Amino acid sequence: MTDATHHAADAIRSGGRVVVLTGAGISAESGIPTFRGKDGYWTVGSREYHPQEMATSAMFSQHPEQVWPWYLYRRGICSAADPNHGHQTLVALEDALADRFLLITQNVDGLHIRAGNSRERTYEIHGNLHRMRCATGCTTEQYPVPDDVHTPERNGALPDEDGARLRCPRCDEWARPHVLWFDECYDEAWYRFESSLNAAVEADVLIVVGTSGATNLPMKVGGIAAQRGAVIIDINPQDNPFSRMADQAPRGAAIQGTAGQALPPLVRTLVEAANA
Ligand code: NAD
Ligand code: ZN
Repeated sequence: MTDATHHAADAIRSGGRVVVLTGAGISAESGIPTFRGKDGYWTVGSREYHPQEMATSAMFSQHPEQVWPWYLYRRGICSAADPNHGHQTLVALEDALADRFLLITQNVDGLHIRAGNSRERTYEIHGNLHRMRCATGCTTEQYPVPDDVHTPERNGALPDEDGARLRCPRCDEWARPHVLWFDECYDEAWYRFESSLNAAVEADVLIVVGTSGATNLPMKVGGIAAQRGAVIIDINPQDNPFSRMADQAPRGAAIQGTAGQALPPLVRTLVEAANA
């Protein structure tokens, strides 16, 4: 057990708050690819597009019928996947800590909620690909992606009947996936921007799992927690900005391992501390 685990347990015994920040890595062991592998790419016509090009409002406004199948294909993978041991262990941590627990996730797969973490304490800061909303913004309502929409083959097209289903129920314009696109900004209403920053200010312990630190809000959360002297623990098989942050934190540690290996023993110790 690392010294940082002891520091985190001490913080919990003194009534401290825990923020857990997760990225695509925690869902890798459920079989959901991260963006780095070839599965992230998508062919439109004869060209291969990167996620950074597909996942933009610019692409959607030009080719909604091309962007939707990419999301529906990924949604199919996420629907077929099950939460893994890493997700489940965070449910046990929330159960033990209640209001002293907060989960900030970059994942759009919905697996944390499916595992059993509460909606109130799970901030999906990049949205959720099982939901959609009006692309013109005529309403702030979110809607489930209809069950009868087909899951396309990889690089498949959107059937006309699905184009007719992926509409705003209020104004009948295109609905869009409820996800934050690369050419959009975080906000509070959709993505809990300020709430996430506030949680970082109040965190006594920050646990980061499976994120490469390529996005802005997670880096801010890490920066704030580090500045305020929180215990920082990073779990990732690879070096990343959070592992460096954790190594530099006086009471931090970078644990090199997968979520499935490294998270359960850490959480067991923290749950014991919460129940002590
Ligand atoms: P990312 O930037 O969060 O990087 C993935 C990280 O996970 C890497 O640092 C990798 O070393 C680590 N990792 C891999 N396997 C792991 C394991 N078993 N345990 C712990 N860590 C592991 O993710 P990305 O793929 O670059 O995606 C960027 C954005 O794209 C995300 O913020 C998200 O919004 C979206 N995305 C979401 C999902 C999902 O919802 N599951 C999947 C792909 C992409
Ligand atoms: Zn509308």
